[in-house]
Amino acid sequence: MTLDRTAFFIDGDWAAPASGDTIQVVSPHTEQVVATVPEGTTADMDAAVAAARRAFDSGPWPRMSPEERIDVVQNFSNLYAGKLGEMAELISTEMGAPLSFSNLAQAPAPWMQIEAFLGIARSFPWEETRTGVLGTDVVVRREPVGVVAAIPPWNVPQFTIMSKLVPALLSGCTIVVKPAPETPLDPYLMAEILSEAGVPDGVVNIVTAGREVGAHLVAHPGVDKVAFTGSTAAGRKIAAVCGEQLKRVSLELGGKSAAIVLDDADLAATMEGLKFASLMNSGQACVAQTRILASRAKYAEVVDALAETVSAMAVGDPLDPATEIGPMVAQRQQERVEKYIALGQEEGARVVVGGNGMPDGLTSGWYVRPTVFADVDNRMRIAQEEIFGPVLSVIPFDDVDDAVRIANDSEYGLAGTVWTGDVESGLDVARRVRTGTYGVNTYTMDFAAPFGGFKSSGIGREFGPEGLAHYTELKSIYQP
Ligand code: NAD
Repeated sequence: MTLDRTAFFIDGDWAAPASGDTIQVVSPHTEQVVATVPEGTTADMDAAVAAARRAFDSGPWPRMSPEERIDVVQNFSNLYAGKLGEMAELISTEMGAPLSFSNLAQAPAPWMQIEAFLGIARSFPWEETRTGVLGTDVVVRREPVGVVAAIPPWNVPQFTIMSKLVPALLSGCTIVVKPAPETPLDPYLMAEILSEAGVPDGVVNIVTAGREVGAHLVAHPGVDKVAFTGSTAAGRKIAAVCGEQLKRVSLELGGKSAAIVLDDADLAATMEGLKFASLMNSGQACVAQTRILASRAKYAEVVDALAETVSAMAVGDPLDPATEIGPMVAQRQQERVEKYIALGQEEGARVVVGGNGMPDGLTSGWYVRPTVFADVDNRMRIAQEEIFGPVLSVIPFDDVDDAVRIANDSEYGLAGTVWTGDVESGLDVARRVRTGTYGVNTYTMDFAAPFGGFKSSGIGREFGPEGLAHYTELKSIYQP
């Protein structure tokens, strides 16, 4: 079966692209073309925004009751649940995530998001009556924010689309999604499911395109709110445009999260936890715990345990269920990670596992060797900049205060973890680290609770009632 596509999903139908430009989807494992899809132009984007605008200004969706919209989104969820295996495999094929990760985070987690948002929407205060200070009733409504532009990255494509699409739908917004050019295939399957679920025409529109067309969408006068996940550099540009235009904007950006390993941690359990927390999605995760903070007293022990754990991880074909670390998404990303590995050595850090070159047994594909650096100073660039690959830095600390100081000494504030035998002291550390999410002896995301970043990791939150509220405008109606 071919994965090729020739049209965009606009106004509830398959629309012919305005130009003959195409994107070739290349397998990061085989380096062979697996599919060709159209590449969106500004004309395609204009058509998508016009459809979303019409559907918002005069279509049924924003005028339906929350309960009616919940029914349609529930249909979508039920149908999506039947496609999890297909979706996971598609994403692994296009961007190289190990299937073991895709079967957890690339498809089931987006579906769990839909279910979580449905639960939140059922008890959300869409319209409430308050007794005002004058003793009269005030009706407080949460109305849809309007036409949403959703711009996700390639690393967790469905995960980052769903956190925008579902709250937008439930609130009565209409939406234009601009997927990343590396991951154009999964949105087609999603569009088919949305169609079957009965989402009205024009409510969801999808045009895959590159940055310039993405920038066109952000600046488009027909768009009321931008929801972006991606790099901090792009987030700054998008925020500037939205600031100028006073558009609503939420930004989920980069990270350089620290895992603090306290002396009383169970080291074996910590290493098992860090395999996921630090190296999920082959290290291509915004929340990856890439700085491992260990006390000077236990430093050598932690470095040895990490070296042993990382060197035992299975690297290879993402579609092999046993694989734990797959290739980088693109050659460009492979080169970027290799540059950082060389830079770390120049900065004086010591490679204890990995280093540049292909992993054993592999001759093609955009692989890098999972790498652990010891003797890292937090001021080094490898400790400050987001590498977005399987490269970990072990940094020594003097005491807990010093560990917290180092964890906070970062432009980012997305996530963090502490590993300890004493949950209370873990919670104490969690309260002191300035990040949007934090894990004690685990890293996980709970869709009932807000997710997002402090500092340069973003503005706004996704998930939970807070993530739904971002897609609404508040209106107060006074009465005599
Ligand atoms: P990227 O910023 O290069 O691109 C992200 C998306 O934005 C793509 O669709 C791209 O085409 C588009 N884009 C880029 N510049 C744009 C502009 N000026 N205007 C409009 N659209 C633009 O990021 P990437 O390389 O695809 O993804 C990796 C980054 O995403 C990492 O920094 C990672 O930390 C971050 N990320 C953050 C989260 C989070 O929830 N905080 C989740 C996943 C990824």
